[in-house]
Amino acid sequence: MNKLTIDDLSKNGDLKSNRVLVRVDFNVPMSKNDEGKITDDKRIVESLSTIKKIIFEGGRVILMSHMGRPKGEKNLKYSLRPVAMHLTDLLRKPVYFSDDCIGHDTKKIVNELKDGEVLLLENLRFYKGEEENDEDFAHQLASYGDVYINDAFGTAHRAHASTEGVTRFISKCAAGYLMQKELEYLSKAISIPAHPYTAILGGSKISGKIDVIKNLLTKADKILIGGGMVFTFYKAMGYEIGKSLLEEDRIGLAKELLHEAGSKLMLPVDIVASARFENDSPFEVVWGNEMPNDKIGMDIGPETIKQFRDEIVKAKTIVWNGPMGVFEMDNFAKGTVEIAMALADATKDGAVTIVGGGDSAAAIAKAGLEHKVSHISTGGGASLEFLEGKKLPGVEALTNK
Ligand code: AMP
Repeated sequence: MNKLTIDDLSKNGDLKSNRVLVRVDFNVPMSKNDEGKITDDKRIVESLSTIKKIIFEGGRVILMSHMGRPKGEKNLKYSLRPVAMHLTDLLRKPVYFSDDCIGHDTKKIVNELKDGEVLLLENLRFYKGEEENDEDFAHQLASYGDVYINDAFGTAHRAHASTEGVTRFISKCAAGYLMQKELEYLSKAISIPAHPYTAILGGSKISGKIDVIKNLLTKADKILIGGGMVFTFYKAMGYEIGKSLLEEDRIGLAKELLHEAGSKLMLPVDIVASARFENDSPFEVVWGNEMPNDKIGMDIGPETIKQFRDEIVKAKTIVWNGPMGVFEMDNFAKGTVEIAMALADATKDGAVTIVGGGDSAAAIAKAGLEHKVSHISTGGGASLEFLEGKKLPGVEALTNK
């Protein structure tokens, strides 16, 4: 890692008695009916080692994050207050909360913070300046920190005020432990992967994943395709796809990718096809090239699961992003769950397995296999962009060692 890290700051005595401004990613899912209930606290838990380290060193912790998409307006539906309460429980010490992220009152709370105390600022996206990377907004945030740490891998692919703008005003900007861990796993997968290297891509659409497929073609030995994007490839091959998901404007591109990839790209040979897009709709397994014209492709079939599993257990490096089918519906979750199980088996046999994206992570959790893979990334979009070979602005902006 050629960027400054939290341990570098620690060794240099830069944490002690200093105001340490930390960008975390506390954009956690909240229950829709039970207001303020956090349904998955993985992102908060993953940031604890960075926060505890600063407390231990006697630094003053100022945490900032976004939550949801309030579109630049104060909307308490997206308040981070419940997160401050949850963090208080996790740390077993009070976490102060400022109900704004800039302004006079916030500045006062920051200045009154004592060594070892923790403060969480209100949602950064209550201001347009955050996503617009407004200089003045960034400057105000930066004024709270003597040093800066970015531990928000999930937002590192965005040049926002709190991920990029602030670094222009603070001389020492370092990566936190979570950021380091994410980069370490993902860098290994793209620069020095052990072979065979297998990538598994699924999810609804091909459009967000074209560049990653292109980049993986130069690195991976096999790319297994599942999910809704299968049908745009099928269409490109001249297959009937019934009422399955199709991105009409990507058919040409799918053709090109098929041509470029040759046998590297593996598509499902069979599909679970359903009459309607509903869990209790009748379904049948059909060959990929025999889709009935009135059915929807919902999941990969049993023969495909077998073929994909064979590839997965042979591999030494595996990256997975995107479910194999409509896994939210139990009847169409089998393909995704079986792939998760194959990943767990490969991990047991020594493969490095990396799962990115909220849906694949949720599928792993559904199968109870969270601890049976090497690394579950907290950033779906960021991990995809990294695998595409792009530089992440939130990482690039950190201080070089
Ligand atoms: P993405 O956000 O692109 O990773 O897509 C995730 C979504 O893809 C999930 O909500 C899945 O239900 C959906 N998905 C997976 N397979 C299919 C399919 N065959 N048809 C429609 N949607 C699908």
